[in-house]
Amino acid sequence: SRGAEGARTILFEARMDRELRLEAAMEADVKAAVAGEAMVPWFQPVVETATGVIFGVEMLARWPREGGEIVGPGEFIPVVERLGLMNELTLSLMRQAFRSARDWPRDIHLGVNFSASQLNEGTLPPRLLSLLQEEDFDPHRLEVEVTEDALLNYEGAAMNALNTLRELGASLVIDDFGMGYSSFSQLRTLAFDRLKIDRSFVQGMRGELDGRIVDAMIGLASGLGIDVVAEGVEEEWMARLLVEKGCRFAQGFHFARPMPADRLARLLAGGRPL
Ligand code: C2E
Ligand code: CA
Ligand code: CA
Ligand code: CA
Repeated sequence: SRGAEGARTILFEARMDRELRLEAAMEADVKAAVAGEAMVPWFQPVVETATGVIFGVEMLARWPREGGEIVGPGEFIPVVERLGLMNELTLSLMRQAFRSARDWPRDIHLGVNFSASQLNEGTLPPRLLSLLQEEDFDPHRLEVEVTEDALLNYEGAAMNALNTLRELGASLVIDDFGMGYSSFSQLRTLAFDRLKIDRSFVQGMRGELDGRIVDAMIGLASGLGIDVVAEGVEEEWMARLLVEKGCRFAQGFHFARPMPADRLARLLAGGRPL
């Protein structure tokens, strides 16, 4: 009957309305947080697999809220993307990271994630260059991480940005290798320095198929003269097996979880391998 349908329509509209209001509130919160530099960089060590010596850290965005909750990037990065504020966020996080790096006892590498959309913005390279100069951070320590899928969406501007960063001395890293669509053509398009094997392969590598895939990735990288980082190393056996397979670098909860800047500074000051 029309009556029931009408009631359903009104209910549906009420729900839509509430969702839209929640979404608008979230967008307003995120916008204010980016403008107020409320998001902070956390860091996860990347180690030499065989020795546990820290080679570098990956910067990972976190949003500490009032009341102590720490919100992860999965919840706010899509909103930041929608608002077109990814470069604002990344540059703010990098400025904080460069300042933290002054307390680090060694010149370890710093990995930063970039999405396709932000690399497509032609203003990124000049802004990044002035940030590096202002904060006196050596670009050779910078690792630019991009996902394969992101590369599919690259326009000329993004390619230029990556080439400019490379010319400054930064390393280029393919993130989540194996999960995208055209890994091989991407290796051909740009001179990458490193590839990060997606954690799904690493965690499955006791199985015959994933084991062979990981072997093939390590062989491919060594043939191309580039380094491999295994992601998602959660267990001792994974670290051991990766050493056997000749995977030079590793990252994962087995070695260390992502941590705030003060904890990283203490860890590095201790000088011990993980
Ligand atoms: P990603 O670049 O692949 O980063 C690695 C993610 O794996 C991180 O999640 C890290 O906490 C998690 N991880 C590390 N070791 C392990 C492990 O042993 N086991 C498991 N299960 N997970 C592990 P996180 O911090 O939640 O970040 C998720 C994604 O959000 C990142 O994936 C990256 O794509 C994106 N992201 C984070 N920060 C930024 C940022 O500043 N800019 C951009 N564009 N993306 C970011
Ligand atoms: Ca990454
Ligand atoms: Ca990854
Ligand atoms: Ca990932």
